[in-house]
Amino acid sequence: MIGLISATAAGAAARDRLAAAWPGRTRVYAGPAGEAVRAAFAECEQLVCFLATGAVVRLVAPLLGDKASDPGVVCVDEGGRFAVSLVGGHAGGANALAREVGELLGAAPVVTTATDSVGLAGLDTLGLPAEGDVAAVSRALLDGEPVALDAEAAWPLPPLPLVPRDSGAAYTVRLTDRLVESADGEVVLRPPTLVAGVGASRGAPAEEVLGLVEDTLREAGLSARSLAALATVEAKAGEPGLVEAAARLGVPLVTHPAEELAGVAVPNPSDAPLAAVGTPSVAEAAALAGGGELLVPKRKSRRADGQPAMATCAVVRRPGRGRLAVVGLGPGARDLLTPRARAELERASVLVGLDQYVDQIRDLLRPGTRILESGLGAEEERARTAVAEARRGHAVALIGSGDAGVYAMASPALAEAAGDIDVVGVPGVTAALAAGALLGAPLGHDHVSISLSDLHTPWEVIERRVRAAAEADLVVTFYNPRSRGRDWQLPKALAVLSGHRAPTTPVGVVRNASRPDGTTRLTTLAALDPATVDMMTVVTVGNTATREIAGRMVTPRGYRWQDGRQEEAR
Ligand code: SAH
Repeated sequence: MIGLISATAAGAAARDRLAAAWPGRTRVYAGPAGEAVRAAFAECEQLVCFLATGAVVRLVAPLLGDKASDPGVVCVDEGGRFAVSLVGGHAGGANALAREVGELLGAAPVVTTATDSVGLAGLDTLGLPAEGDVAAVSRALLDGEPVALDAEAAWPLPPLPLVPRDSGAAYTVRLTDRLVESADGEVVLRPPTLVAGVGASRGAPAEEVLGLVEDTLREAGLSARSLAALATVEAKAGEPGLVEAAARLGVPLVTHPAEELAGVAVPNPSDAPLAAVGTPSVAEAAALAGGGELLVPKRKSRRADGQPAMATCAVVRRPGRGRLAVVGLGPGARDLLTPRARAELERASVLVGLDQYVDQIRDLLRPGTRILESGLGAEEERARTAVAEARRGHAVALIGSGDAGVYAMASPALAEAAGDIDVVGVPGVTAALAAGALLGAPLGHDHVSISLSDLHTPWEVIERRVRAAAEADLVVTFYNPRSRGRDWQLPKALAVLSGHRAPTTPVGVVRNASRPDGTTRLTTLAALDPATVDMMTVVTVGNTATREIAGRMVTPRGYRWQDGRQEEAR
């Protein structure tokens, strides 16, 4: 919940805009500002104060505890010009909130956290528990001093300007699930690589399960902060001791059907669980079900009262999973790049793409991002490279213009990818949509895109699809319409459409949509000169109901335009 506090009429007006824009996310604290701030500080995850920073500093100072748990506080000035991230920039989310508030109110976000202002990911914002000297290592990164990466686990870290381990750097970022003390000048990051398989008799106390898991990890020299999950058999999904132990460890309880566990090869099967739940192994099999290496074979809890053990535990280390984001950059204009695409570009430590698309977003990349760019025609190789890098455990962004799934990199990449990496798709504004918005509303009824490139598709297939679209009276957007070496395809396709549509059918020709030198023309099937079309262009041909209205191309949502009264009404 975001607490909103204001003292003046202007502040209250801005406050109400936030409250209206974010229904259910905010709570207004009325009354004297001091009491309101204190109440909101105690009850909310975040505060937006429409008050001077000085006033807020005085009010929150006695309330501040620790940056890991304090709420994030944003101040907005009386004129609504600035949204200042005051405290809790990272963990409290104030930096992100300042940006959001700024966007909504038209205020400039003011973010002073050093790592954010130079575009570095903060070591405490990586989504991994961090131990050790975070402040000193962050400072070294900011000062451009060499910081080494010592990674025992492959993990898709965001970009950080780190040097190899043996380069004698005074500072280190260490990525390990082993129980090591951080040295001076060292930050230890805990990747969630460990899975503890657990078995429990009915009524096993949570204390016993928890104690067993914690002892097992510690005795094996492993950090509980790297624990990703407890795993068990489906029949034990509701076993209170397991549920509570998982909750107290802060990890999910993952369950597997007994048949699945029975099929997992384990070193220590036994008859007891076979009789009880239908698999010869619960702890070892559940730990191993997601793959990985068995670090600690099954062991039982030790009970002080000498009674039989009620819990078993085994520990597996999973291989790190890389992350492949397939990111659409939109048609060209920076403000048509989605915030989500931008976040993924900042999140990736490896960027793979066509050189001209990399140029489009190079300034957004964080220091330390490895850029693998290649020229036109190397699609398959780019796809393979992106997948191979993700498989090595990296966070990879594979970029494409428009939407990366439309005549672009998503399909060759996913054809290469197996289940061993995570894939995230970020949609983009396609050329057809960008062109449609410039032309008017040409896509108001059923429509298709057809690429006229016969590089990967035989012309007969393309022509058959154009014919089908013509017969079905679909609005058609032609991609890759014409290049120097491919000049007869567009006239041919237009001829097919002309067989079913009037010569006066509106045709939109949009070149470089949303780019600085963009042009938009509205013509007709009969008047279009194919020579004015090139590879930077999309051509949208209307259906039999599409009309030019006030210089705009409009395809009605129904076919009522053909109705006489509607014709007259126009
Ligand atoms: N993935 C892209 C399409 C790539 S195919 C998308 O979703 O839009 C390349 C073709 O897209 C070009 O030949 C051209 O026909 C079209 N195109 C891409 N960007 C364009 C733009 N800004 N303006 C007009 N056409 C564009």
